[in-house]
Amino acid sequence: MPKTYTELLKEAKASIREVNPQEAERLRAEGVTFIDVRETSEWDQGYIPGALHVARSYLELHIEATVPDRDAPLVLYCAGGVRSAFGAQTLQQLGYANAMSMSGGFQSWKAEGLPWTTPVVLSKEQQQRYSRHLLIPEVGSAGQARLLESKVLLIGAGGLGSPAALYLAAAGVGTIGIVDFDIVDVSNLQRQVLHASDRVGQKKVESAKQAIAALNPDVTVVGHEEMLVGDNVERIIAGYDVILDGTDTFETRYLLNDAAVAAGIPVVHASVFRFEGQLTTFIPYEGPCYRCLYPTPPPPELAPGCSVAGVLGVVPGIMGLLQANEVLKVLLGIGTTLAGRLLIFDALEAEFTELKLRRDPACPVCSDEARAARERGEAPALSAFPVDAPFVLSGAGFGGLGGAAPEGRA
Ligand SMILES: [Zn+2]
Repeated sequence: MPKTYTELLKEAKASIREVNPQEAERLRAEGVTFIDVRETSEWDQGYIPGALHVARSYLELHIEATVPDRDAPLVLYCAGGVRSAFGAQTLQQLGYANAMSMSGGFQSWKAEGLPWTTPVVLSKEQQQRYSRHLLIPEVGSAGQARLLESKVLLIGAGGLGSPAALYLAAAGVGTIGIVDFDIVDVSNLQRQVLHASDRVGQKKVESAKQAIAALNPDVTVVGHEEMLVGDNVERIIAGYDVILDGTDTFETRYLLNDAAVAAGIPVVHASVFRFEGQLTTFIPYEGPCYRCLYPTPPPPELAPGCSVAGVLGVVPGIMGLLQANEVLKVLLGIGTTLAGRLLIFDALEAEFTELKLRRDPACPVCSDEARAARERGEAPALSAFPVDAPFVLSGAGFGGLGGAAPEGRA
C-alpha cells in the first residue's frame, strides 16, 4: 500500500539517529565529518565550516568516493532536517551505520548562533583567469577557491622568493606576505626576476607589490619590512598557512624553524650554491625539521653567500619554482611532499639526487619530548644550540655537495 510523505518521513526518522545542532557542534569539534546535502545554490549562500558538499540528488552516486570509510560517523544536514533524514536513511542502507541527521538543519544551526561560512564564488573573470586550473580535477573550483583563501609567507624577496612570488601570485594564492627589509640592487637583477631595472634603489617589498599587482589583482601583498628576529618571528608568521624559506643566514633559519614548528606551520626550504640547489619541506612532526638536519650550523667559511661564491641565475629560479610547487601541493592537499626527503639539483649535469631524511628523536624542537614540553607551556630546551655559539660543522650527511655547505644567499 502506498505511503504518504508524512509516513515516509516518520519511518526515516525512526530508523536513524537525529542530533540537534548543539550535539552536532560537539561532534564537529571531535572531528566528525559533516555532509551538506543541499543544492549548490543553497551551499553558495553559506555552509558549516569543514562540511563536505554532496547534494541529496548525488548522494548515492558520490558518497563512496567522498567518504570511503563506511564505519565513519557522519552528520548530514540540509536546510530544515528533512532531506538529511532521508539521506541518512539511504546511507544506512548503503552500509553507513553511523550516518546521522541534524534536526532543524542549517536554519536552526544559524539561529543558534553556531559558526558558518560562505564559499568563495569565482567571478567570471576568475573563471577565465584560472581556467587551466579549473580543468584539473585535483584543483578545480574548490581548489582554486582554497588557493584564493590561502596565505603564504615568503621569507625574502630575493633569488628564491622572486620566481616563487610570481608563480604563486599567478596561481591565485590570495595573500602573499613578504619579509624583506632590503632594497633592490642592480646586482640582484641577474636572478631576482620580481624586480626591474627601473626599481633599483626601491624597497624590495614595494617593488614586489608593484610586480604582483601588475600580474594578478586578486592577490593581496602584505609587506613585513623588518628583519626576522626572536621578538617578532611569532607575530610575523602567525596566521600563514605555509612559509617559503628563502633566507640567507643560519640564525634566521633556526629562528624560523623553531617558531614554525611551535606554530605547526609547514616550511618549504631551499638553498643554492653556484650550480647546486637543495630543497625539502618541513612539515611539523610529520618529517624532520631544520634542526634535525643541522643540529649546529657549519662555519661561515664553508657557507659562503652568493655575494661571495656566486650563483648561476637560473638555479635559484629553478629551486624557487620547485618551492612554489611544494607550497601549492601543501595548500591543495595533493601529491606527495618532500617531507623527509632532500632533493639536490646539479645544474651542470642536469641531475636530481634524492636523500632520505630522518627525524632526530632527540631534536630539541620537534622530538616528542620537546613537543610535550611545549604543550605543557615549557619552552623547549634550546640552550644546547644557541645561535651565537661558535659554528661547528656537524657533518650531517651533506658530503655529496663538493665539500660546500648547503647554503648561500639566494
Ligand atoms: Zn627536529
